[in-house]
Amino acid sequence: MTKAPPDAGETLDPDDWDALRAQGHRMLDDMFDYIADVRARPVWRPIPAETRARFRDGLPRASADLDDIYREFADHIAPYTAGNVHPGFMGWVNGGGTAIGMLAEMLAAGLNANLGGRDHVPIEVERQIVLWVRQMFGFPDTASGIFVTGTSMANLMGVLVARSARLGPSVRQRGLSDRGAGLTAYTSVATHGCVAQAMDLAGFGTDALRRIPVDRCHRIDVDALRAQVAADRAAGLTPFLVIGSAGTVDIGAVDDLAALHALCRDENLWLHVDGAYGALGILSPEIAPRLAGIESADSIAFDFHKWGQVPYDAGFLLVRDGEQHRRTFAAPVAYLRRETRGLAAGSPWPCDYGPDMSRGFRALKTWFTFKAYGTEKLGAMIARTCALARYLEAKVVAEPKLELLAPVQLNIVCFRYRADDADKVNARIVASLHESGIAAPSTTTLDGRLAIRAAIVNHRTDMRDIDALVAAVLEFGARETDSLSPRAGRGAG
Ligand SMILES: *Cc1c(COP(=O)(O)O)cnc(C)c1O
Repeated sequence: MTKAPPDAGETLDPDDWDALRAQGHRMLDDMFDYIADVRARPVWRPIPAETRARFRDGLPRASADLDDIYREFADHIAPYTAGNVHPGFMGWVNGGGTAIGMLAEMLAAGLNANLGGRDHVPIEVERQIVLWVRQMFGFPDTASGIFVTGTSMANLMGVLVARSARLGPSVRQRGLSDRGAGLTAYTSVATHGCVAQAMDLAGFGTDALRRIPVDRCHRIDVDALRAQVAADRAAGLTPFLVIGSAGTVDIGAVDDLAALHALCRDENLWLHVDGAYGALGILSPEIAPRLAGIESADSIAFDFHKWGQVPYDAGFLLVRDGEQHRRTFAAPVAYLRRETRGLAAGSPWPCDYGPDMSRGFRALKTWFTFKAYGTEKLGAMIARTCALARYLEAKVVAEPKLELLAPVQLNIVCFRYRADDADKVNARIVASLHESGIAAPSTTTLDGRLAIRAAIVNHRTDMRDIDALVAAVLEFGARETDSLSPRAGRGAG
């Protein structure tokens, strides 16, 4: 005897749409307030043990009331984020997001579009972004592009496209084999760690990545690169790829991309650019000249979620030779058969350009962001973060207790409080800044010296935040040096 299937009343849709609607409107209003009032809150606050413990619960077997779940979100999740929405957040390289981006995310979730493939307009929206990105970087109509999680993934895919361009599509069946053994790639010592990881994941191993020295401004030494390529060729190796940086993570250096392009052309090497945050500087007439040469790269990886302020995540890979890009990833399988009519039309599909089959609608929040603000305003916002970095630089230089540790090139300022045990003092200053909720810079190490690193990425950051950062560094610096000095009494600090 077959049992009747449960009826439609058993779906996951609400019984009472009106109640859900009212609840949804409250959530939306709360999130507008959350963003609008962000300044009134600390950048970050330590997570109470009780809060952390809440998220060690067992599997929820029964249904719960949405109102209660939402209250849990409001009380125990929303207050304890990393704080990158806040104008005082200056750590690492994180975008601030926008309310418009948030709304677009909601719309995208409602559509629940899967952008792996098939013939629907969400994919046309992604293609629209590809078109805009080509235009931004002066790439030809044959260039391809695809949204991915972030630049880490886009760099990995860039390495894979360069790999198949060099070894031919058979590398996908045969693996690197002997032909791949001597392939070497080149980047500067200042390049982000995900590039070495990409070499590892692509099967070359990190030893196949040559790390070239940089000048005082952390730009790759192109002569040293040329010499290394020549030495490797002489040793029987096969150089195939150069990864340039447009905005290094430590201090925001931009390699001489035009010189890298000339070298790659002479040496027949693939030029990939890690432009994670810096590449969008192309939108600012003031910053764009610094990126000269990026238009001649073979591929560019960058993030809309950093300087572009699109909510996480929205990474992107642009490849000059779209056909090469497709050949690197496309894999015909019966259940993804393409047609010229119906929903299975519209080939090639995004899944032909990367390893993901199921893909969210990252393009929508990017489309909304670009249309709502326009590239002029986005470019001006990017230039403003750089102007704020120069403002901070000037304050550091003018303050005898502070020391600038690297030239300011874009939007990143590395400095520290002068002290005897400066590494320890500055690490403590940064931890105190975080705990105070005033500002959240991060740290890095430059020439063996620990630096306070302020990366001005958030569009909300303004001079007040810079002033507050400097004042707090001086205050905490004085406190730390008192507490570390031998004369400090017991219990100090
Ligand atoms: C942020 C960053 C990355 C990594 O990008 P994700 O989007 O975090 O994966 C790579 N390179 C540079 C220069 C970066 O700033």
